[in-house]
Amino acid sequence: MPQSIPSRMQAVVVHGPEDYRLEEVDVPTPDHGELLIEVEAVGVCASDLKCYHGAAKFWGDDNRAAWAQKGVIPGHEFVGVVVAGDRKGLDHHGVELGDRIACEQIVPCEECRYCRRGQYWMCGPHDMFGFRNYNGAMAQYTLVPINARAHKVSHELKPHHAAYAEPLSCALHAVERASISFGDVVVVAGCGPIGLGLIAGARQKNPMTLVALDLDDDKLELGRQCGADVTFNPAKDDVVARIAELTEGYGADVYLEGTGATPAVGQGLNLLRKLGTYVEYSVFGSDVTVDWSIISDDKELNVLGAHLGPHCWPAAIKLLEQGKIPVEQICTHQVGLGEFQQALDLVADTSGASVKVSILPNK
Ligand SMILES: [Zn+2]
Ligand SMILES: [Zn+2]
Repeated sequence: MPQSIPSRMQAVVVHGPEDYRLEEVDVPTPDHGELLIEVEAVGVCASDLKCYHGAAKFWGDDNRAAWAQKGVIPGHEFVGVVVAGDRKGLDHHGVELGDRIACEQIVPCEECRYCRRGQYWMCGPHDMFGFRNYNGAMAQYTLVPINARAHKVSHELKPHHAAYAEPLSCALHAVERASISFGDVVVVAGCGPIGLGLIAGARQKNPMTLVALDLDDDKLELGRQCGADVTFNPAKDDVVARIAELTEGYGADVYLEGTGATPAVGQGLNLLRKLGTYVEYSVFGSDVTVDWSIISDDKELNVLGAHLGPHCWPAAIKLLEQGKIPVEQICTHQVGLGEFQQALDLVADTSGASVKVSILPNK
């Protein structure tokens, strides 16, 4: 049922690094094929924070142009209820008014080499909700363009739990890149929102031993709740030695890196066995220096990257709907739109105060 939609709304607007402002703006009107959603929840991502702090990946440097845009509403980990849209838009996404949907972060162009080959998550122009060309969901309403990839999510879930589908799908894609076998010893570095998704995803593949690493013992406890069999704290344990003990001296079969901390890279290369698999999900704030010959001469490793969560959304949503993810523990903080600055500060606080911080724009 079409509800009464106001003409103005509250939204966070990006004016530049460290300059995000809460403003009153027009509620967008859906054009032909577009949907309007009333935003229920939007997670704050580490990438939102990197953009906020002015990282070169977003705002450019001597070698690259800015990719993020001023004037955009941030927020890409969202769910909302479809409140307006024409038949074309509804049919295209397979939804009806009143359905709850989550959207993939990327809005593919459907024209570039990658899109034409089905590799849409590597789309050349790389337009994304909340960063470039499409407003995100730190607002009461947002538009879903026809090229967006929308997925229905059960109304039964709490909104901020449902919005965890975005980071979880990314983590599941990284897990799939690893091609885990039943006999494997799998090590996940990091128990933040992505690392916990890596653990939960790897648990579904049921390897022989699943190991989680983090510098914070409380996060390691969360890692166990997500399915880790064994946990080590690199600040206290000699992780390479512990993994060697677990594997008759050979080393782990698979290493999934989700910390974004540079020492985690060398750690992974050192704790893997020969012919092992390293999957990198993180985005780093600075260059990483390692002995690259470990990859070639010493161990002949498979080193794989992972970006976004292509083809993993149905699985991520299923895991959430089945209650297989301890989202009550993962989603630690929910704030209103007026407290967006507090939300960014909570994500920036590395003392372990928060795991997933969410904004509920209509609460
Ligand atoms: Zn994200
Ligand atoms: Zn494309």
